[in-house]
Amino acid sequence: MSENQPLSGRLADRVKLREEHVITRMADIAEKLTDVIRLGRGDPDLDTPAHIVKAGQDALGRGETHYGHPLGLPALRQAIAENIRAHGGADYAPDEIVVTPGGQHAMFVIALALLNPGDEIIVPCPGYNPYSQAAELSSAEVVPVRMSMDTNFTLTAAMIEAHITPRSKVLVLINPNNPTGTVTPPDEVERIAKLAIKHDLIVISDEIYARLVYGNQRIQPVAALPGMRERTITLSGFSKAYAMTGWRVGYFAGPKALITAMAEINHAFAISTASVSQHAALAALTGPQDCVEEMRLIYDERRKALCEGLDRIGIPYAEPQGAFYVYANVSVVGIPASLFCERLLAEGRVMIYPGRIYGDYTDDFVRMSLTQPVERIREAMTRIQTVVHAIRSERSAPAA
Ligand code: PLP
Repeated sequence: MSENQPLSGRLADRVKLREEHVITRMADIAEKLTDVIRLGRGDPDLDTPAHIVKAGQDALGRGETHYGHPLGLPALRQAIAENIRAHGGADYAPDEIVVTPGGQHAMFVIALALLNPGDEIIVPCPGYNPYSQAAELSSAEVVPVRMSMDTNFTLTAAMIEAHITPRSKVLVLINPNNPTGTVTPPDEVERIAKLAIKHDLIVISDEIYARLVYGNQRIQPVAALPGMRERTITLSGFSKAYAMTGWRVGYFAGPKALITAMAEINHAFAISTASVSQHAALAALTGPQDCVEEMRLIYDERRKALCEGLDRIGIPYAEPQGAFYVYANVSVVGIPASLFCERLLAEGRVMIYPGRIYGDYTDDFVRMSLTQPVERIREAMTRIQTVVHAIRSERSAPAA
């Protein structure tokens, strides 16, 4: 190795370091503190329902400790196909579904299968950042569509159309979106689908939060719309609706012509998804579904408590319509959101994440996860109020 070449210079050009190290830095700060209220990661505090855990334990007891079918347990793929259909999605055959070690893993498999160097992939901004990372690792061009709080971060066909070029190949829809909690209304999804057909785009439709929507919101599955099945990859998983983040099970579904190549890449990456986890996921889909509704109601109560707290402090936020996040504009506090998050953690022992992690083009927003009991969320809001007050007082104090 050349003496003058720093080690980091040896990384491939397509590796771009982003804001993710902020998460590590905050985790390091939190490590040294006690009684931190963690509203950072999108990892439910709720336990995986007991019947699902039991199915995993039973599978372990039966010795389901080997590699499984490369596409995923056949019974699970059958159950996924039925579940997608039952929620108004497209008709998939079990061999059009690939079970993966989490939905996140699926993003990289799909990107590698679809994107050539120089192809453009349109992503919502802010949005779930690994899509951009997956695209960059495929040497594709990421084209962010900037959404704004003025329209509750709603993605529209008109906004997307303004970003389409002859190199546009893939469009990512995340509905409900992370980090904004925005639901794309069904009629807008229809317009976006027509646009995808008009410009011959392939759509990756991330519907992992589709079961978690509030009020009268409804998610329109993209692949079920006319002409969309053959150009859509539907991505989802068990982490969010069934509180199964640590089991690492997700899936994607699409037309056979695309799925075969993706399945091969998935096999090269993972061989198969943990058999025990797949049996647990099967129980999640085939067992009682009340647990999903119970958890949704819990998040809804927390969502209201958190928003009440923000109203009290005077911090504006996007209306959280789905998922389990609130996206708030802390520019009113007077310091950048990333600095605010660090100070809030150090001084108030509340962990939240800056919107920059999700590709936000401003440093004004923070994402707050509804992943603590409602009393802890109320306590977090009291702590936030104290830190905001302290920051505002020091900023209004006359210089010494
Ligand atoms: N899609 C979105 C929008 C997410 O927010 C996440 C995780 O936070 C995932 C997919 C991946 O989840 P998992 O890999 O746990 O299935």
